[in-house]
Amino acid sequence: MLDYIVVGLGLAGISFCEVLEKEGKAFTVITDESQRASQVAGGLYNPVILKRFTMAWKAKQQLEGAKPFYQNLEKKLGVKLDFELPVLRKFASIEEQNLWFEAADRPDLDYFLSTKIIPNNNPAIDAPHGFGEVKYTGRIDTGTLVRSYKRYLEEKGKLLSESMDFDSLSIAEDHVAYKSIAAKNIVFACGYGLKQNPYFGYLPLNGTKGELLIIHAPNYKEDNVIKSSVFTIPMEDDTYLVGATYKWKDKTNEPTEASKNELLEKLKSFLKCDFEVVDHVAGIRPTVIDRRPLVGKHPKHQNLYVLNGFGSRGVLIGPYASRQLFDYIEKNTDLDPEMDVVRFTKKYYSG
Ligand SMILES: Cc1cc2nc3c(=O)[nH]c(=O)nc-3n(C[C@H](O)[C@H](O)[C@H](O)COP(=O)(O)OP(=O)(O)OC[C@H]3O[C@@H](n4cnc5c(N)ncnc54)[C@H](O)[C@@H]3O)c2cc1C
Repeated sequence: MLDYIVVGLGLAGISFCEVLEKEGKAFTVITDESQRASQVAGGLYNPVILKRFTMAWKAKQQLEGAKPFYQNLEKKLGVKLDFELPVLRKFASIEEQNLWFEAADRPDLDYFLSTKIIPNNNPAIDAPHGFGEVKYTGRIDTGTLVRSYKRYLEEKGKLLSESMDFDSLSIAEDHVAYKSIAAKNIVFACGYGLKQNPYFGYLPLNGTKGELLIIHAPNYKEDNVIKSSVFTIPMEDDTYLVGATYKWKDKTNEPTEASKNELLEKLKSFLKCDFEVVDHVAGIRPTVIDRRPLVGKHPKHQNLYVLNGFGSRGVLIGPYASRQLFDYIEKNTDLDPEMDVVRFTKKYYSG
């Protein structure tokens, strides 16, 4: 009898597995490739919402836990994951500069927002009003993380690569059984795949498609993340991630010409050097109506749990929500009420 079955190996599943390993719990993971958010994500960790100059939900607290979390993973997997990079927010006007300074006076934001205006020294960028710098930000290479973690679990014999067949899942009072695997609990960390889940399909997961371009721009020569109408994120060998789009209707993982054109148009509004598009990727962010994660226990079944709804901030929310879920299951502690799925129990009984 295992302690846990974890379904899904994106940022949610990996974060939860990490808590399980730390706590010495026996588990197996079942995952397919139907969802790609964690594999294609830009991987930015940035606690500040740069449209409005406000703090993202509990982001300072989440960042404190996330840094050691990814550092441990780097050691364990033997790969580089955390690239510390300042984010430079391009100012569109003097008014925006003033709004930035107002924001930089507010508690918490004062820790992250530099009060110096950074002049633009990069001839490849059009930014006459300069930039504001966000500190303590960076990028997690989530694609490498998913691939390396998968290999790690495979080597340990803890991975079953298949789509969960719900007809093969049986639920008893004190355990669940899936084919030949029995476990005390099952945690669904399926991203947007939760929509097809017969137990948690009642949860109001919207899903927001995002697309990113990878460009090769040898004359860009930019070491910082630049945030203008899109982000550009430096990677190796003069390549940059450019993104992302937000679309609410299309729920496929297929890159589209329309989004590519949208990204190119926005990019060209501030990037003045030549570049070439070398790749184009898409995935569905697991977004929720109230923009809070979906974490907790099934309304009826005591050993079914969900870990989802990380929206566009999986890098920071993953480690935080996973620790909370584990302590809730094993130590009976309360979940943060803002992410507890109890807030949607009515939907379960009315739907
Ligand atoms: C273009 C884009 C850019 C982004 N940029 C950032 C960023 O810069 N910073 C940031 O923090 N976040 C970013 N995000 C958001 C981030 O990717 C998500 O918050 C996060 O990846 C969600 O992780 P997850 O594990 O919940 O879901 P997923 O990554 O979707 O993983 C779920 C896993 O479960 C599997 N699965 C689903 N159903 C089943 C089933 N029935 N049986 C077996 N397996 C199943 C899926 O195949 C998948 O492997 C971005 C997302 C996109 C799309």
